[in-house]
Amino acid sequence: MPITSNVAWDRRLEVFKGRDTAQYIDSVMASAKHCAACRLRLGTGDALSLTVDITESHDLEDTVCLTFDPAVCHLRCQEPGLRVRQTDDAMDALASIGARMVLSGGGLGKTNIPVLAYTLVPSLVFGEPGGEMTSALVSALLNHGFQLSLTASYRDIVQQAIPVGNTCTCTLAGGGTVQLHIDGELMHSQQLDEADAGDAAWLEGYKAGHVLVISGDNLVFTDTGLELAAAARLGTLVAGIVPVPQNLRN
Ligand SMILES: [Zn+2]
Repeated sequence: MPITSNVAWDRRLEVFKGRDTAQYIDSVMASAKHCAACRLRLGTGDALSLTVDITESHDLEDTVCLTFDPAVCHLRCQEPGLRVRQTDDAMDALASIGARMVLSGGGLGKTNIPVLAYTLVPSLVFGEPGGEMTSALVSALLNHGFQLSLTASYRDIVQQAIPVGNTCTCTLAGGGTVQLHIDGELMHSQQLDEADAGDAAWLEGYKAGHVLVISGDNLVFTDTGLELAAAARLGTLVAGIVPVPQNLRN
């Protein structure tokens, strides 16, 4: 069994990840904080193992679609492994997770900028296993006017962000549910708490007319915030300014 840094992994992973294998292991390790088996914090230098659950499906054109769901454990808790499952529809297993924040200033004038960040879990890619694989989420967003971001700096992202296509809207449903629609499809939603000071500021920025949406694969949501470094490094970070419908503005 191959070992990269202090992580043992299953060699069959290379069949799916090809020359991206090392980079993939790096990005998983960058966000791993706790052992998936015993839940204890992973210590520096601990002998670790990587287990990856892969689902494989085919779209209408018979392109292979894969999802990768990794788990990092102490080697003493679990041996490295790889499980492949065939499924009819990989979308079934996907969930979207996200967070909100407010950034100040930048290219959108003096108002605070409301940010909606989200990703799909597990990430879905399509293409040739072992060869060039494309992120389904990144490619969908790029098709609707989002831009790749090569920087994880919020200041730079705000300055470089441009408006997305008119197929994207960010609405506010009854009860304070923020919804991102693309081409009429609900991509992601989050529940605002208007009693929360952070959410009140978010809403104020929202009513000014725009939301900065940050998305892509390899976004890491933690208890303390959002880490974009791995996504920027792997070329899977996208951002765009999504308009708020006129009737919801101040
Ligand atoms: Zn453990």
